[in-house]
This record gives sequence, structure tokens and C-alpha cells, in this order.
Amino acid sequence: MSDAVTLEGECLCGAVRFAASGPVHAMYLCHCSRCRKETGSAHAANIFLRDATLTWTRGGDSVRRYALPGTRKARSFCTTCGSPVARAAGATVIVPAGALDTPLTFAPTAHIFCDSRAPWEDLLPATPRHAALPG
Ligand SMILES: [Zn+2]
Ligand SMILES: [Zn+2]
Repeated sequence: MSDAVTLEGECLCGAVRFAASGPVHAMYLCHCSRCRKETGSAHAANIFLRDATLTWTRGGDSVRRYALPGTRKARSFCTTCGSPVARAAGATVIVPAGALDTPLTFAPTAHIFCDSRAPWEDLLPATPRHAALPG
């Protein structure tokens, strides 16, 4: 996982659009309680690019950053719709995979912080799957 990629994506409302470029370090699915709070879901899905650049192709002035005091946890989000968007941390750019419009050319690296997973996550393999919202 060392070839440089360019990942483009945008927030739910479309006000913010970004392009992140650099070599892929990892794609982690993080199940920690902070990522569950941040996403409102079972886990975050973030791609880490090293020696990377982050460009706002639209709405950079609509991006706000939040850092959880006393931790390394931070997030950037659209101030209109609240969706997570890419953020830079030094030379690393962290891209929320769900925001991407670019097809991935690599597989996720690993699930991490699995010991912190939601209790209901273990029920997912047995949960029915529907192609769309069931009637
Ligand atoms: Zn938005
Ligand atoms: Zn996490």
C-alpha cells in the first residue's frame, strides 16, 4: 500500500468537496467508543494518507474542526449538514471513506479497537439483509 492515490469526496449536502492525495498508509475500521459517538454507527472507516496534501475544491470556509480535549481525537465536518470530511494532522490526511466518490483501489487494512465494539455488533452476521428499505 504505497502508491499515491487521489481521493475525492464531499459531504451529504454537497457544500464541501475535497481532494486528498498521497500514498495510502492504512484504512482502518475503528470500533472505539469515540468513533462510534462521532459516526453514530458501529465503527468509523478512515483512510490514512502519509506525506499527503488536502485541497478543498468547494466550500473550505464551511469546514469546522473539533478536537476532543485531552485526547488525540479530532474531526472536521461540514457546518451545514454535519457530515465528516477529510482533515489534516501534520503530514497525514485522514479521509472518511463514506464521504468518497472515488472508487477504492485497495482493501481495508484492519478492524481496530474491537474490544470496545458495541454489544449489538456481534449480532450483525445473523441480522437479516434487505436490498432496500423493507415495506
Ligand atoms: Zn454539508
Ligand atoms: Zn476510534
